[in-house]
Amino acid sequence: MSVQHYQAKQFKSQAREALADQQLRDNFRGAMDYLQQKRKDAFNDPDELAQLRLHAENIRQRCLAKLPELLEQLERHCEANGIKVHWAEDAAQAQQLIAGLIQQAGGQKVVKGKSMVTEEIALNQHLESLGIECVESDMGEYIVQLAEETPSHIIMPAIHKNKQQVADIFQQHIKDFNYTLSVDKLIQTGREVLRSKFQQADVGISGVNFAVAETGTLCLVENEGNGRMTTTVPPLHIAVTGIEKVVEFLSDVPPLFSILTRSATGQHITTYFNMISGPRRAPERDGPQQVHLVLLDNGRSQAYADEALRKTLQCIRCGACMNHCPVYTRVGGHAYGTTYPGPIGKIISPHLQGLANTSDLVTASSLCGACEEVCPVNIPIPSLLQRLRRDAKLPTEAGQPSLKGQASAASVVEHTAWRAWAWLSTHSAIYNVCTSLVLSLAKFIPIPMGAWTRCRGKPALAEQSFHQAMKQRQQQANKQPISQSADQSSASNKGSN
Ligand code: SF4
Repeated sequence: MSVQHYQAKQFKSQAREALADQQLRDNFRGAMDYLQQKRKDAFNDPDELAQLRLHAENIRQRCLAKLPELLEQLERHCEANGIKVHWAEDAAQAQQLIAGLIQQAGGQKVVKGKSMVTEEIALNQHLESLGIECVESDMGEYIVQLAEETPSHIIMPAIHKNKQQVADIFQQHIKDFNYTLSVDKLIQTGREVLRSKFQQADVGISGVNFAVAETGTLCLVENEGNGRMTTTVPPLHIAVTGIEKVVEFLSDVPPLFSILTRSATGQHITTYFNMISGPRRAPERDGPQQVHLVLLDNGRSQAYADEALRKTLQCIRCGACMNHCPVYTRVGGHAYGTTYPGPIGKIISPHLQGLANTSDLVTASSLCGACEEVCPVNIPIPSLLQRLRRDAKLPTEAGQPSLKGQASAASVVEHTAWRAWAWLSTHSAIYNVCTSLVLSLAKFIPIPMGAWTRCRGKPALAEQSFHQAMKQRQQQANKQPISQSADQSSASNKGSN
């Protein structure tokens, strides 16, 4: 199976393609409108939301401030519970480690629950190259796996597909599929296939939403029950998580869980919440015989080392920022060419792939602030983007961490244009002549203006420049009779008393 991979470096051309795909845009628009409304309904008390956000932010910041010691505590308590802990510095190390565990156990068939971190390390492709079958058990992930694609959203991997497209994929890949557009029947079909995969699997791989240092417990949030099947039916369970997912206390979990589900899907609680605290113990009759936890760094330490960029690690992967981002809602997730798309993707991907590869992403934002406004843990995404835009202009030094920039993300044309603008704006007489010339010629500018008008209308220019408008105001004020000015002034004085 060859998965279609998009590249962050090709963001501009991928975004252009996405914008030209009306079906894709309709699918995203519909889904995002629905999710925005659900979130709004779930947080109908703004005071409660503000308090919850602050509480969640404080928890995340406290846990991150103690990250090294909490990770050690997590390791100790997991080992005491019988969970074997492994550390992976990068994607390649994590791939080898996980494949090694599967091979040691003689595993051939793997079922995997939804886990973005395993997408980050391209685990499926690695296992496949070793002849190990790895089937996604989350319905959305299963659909994109059949379609040989990557997820386009961190919570809803197949959100870019409508039911007709899903039915076509099933017809192509599932034997004896009775073609239908009924969503219930489509889900039923997928579940029937997956049921037999659970029965045959030697290994279950899952992600982790919260890893509790105090108790050595792995928490998993899900809606389909596939996470529970994946972590309990096969004899070997391997959980994979980024190092930032650790929380200090068990009591930290309920507030984070509550704000996570409401921000993500507008649900007050998900159908399943799993707490894994070790392999099966006598006399238990189900559960895996072995549980392993893989803690992945892959660029996170680099973000951690910088006080401002550390805020990136507060993320609890709810996806709300992408659901509300005007860029994401128009181009969808694949255009970004990164595992994590949308606003969070723009600030985490430079740590995973380096700024030289992701410098277009950090500019793909209007800095409208919607992402920050909905983020349940108050990550200041726009200011982090501005910081990364500046960093993108730093020269890359040989042997330095991948975050370093690439000298300048701007093209020669862009540079020249800005230099010309800088010169013009410091020469007021010429500036005034140029602006009045542009204003008088504006109506003759043809409607198609290249990339600008490909997906939006031509901007309407003001009839007057700011300077002209101010001048006119000044002239009108000067013409006003003195008595009227005096009346106005006394009225305003009375008002201010
Ligand atoms: S950055 Fe905030 S809104 Fe975006 S996924 Fe992370 S927690 Fe959710």
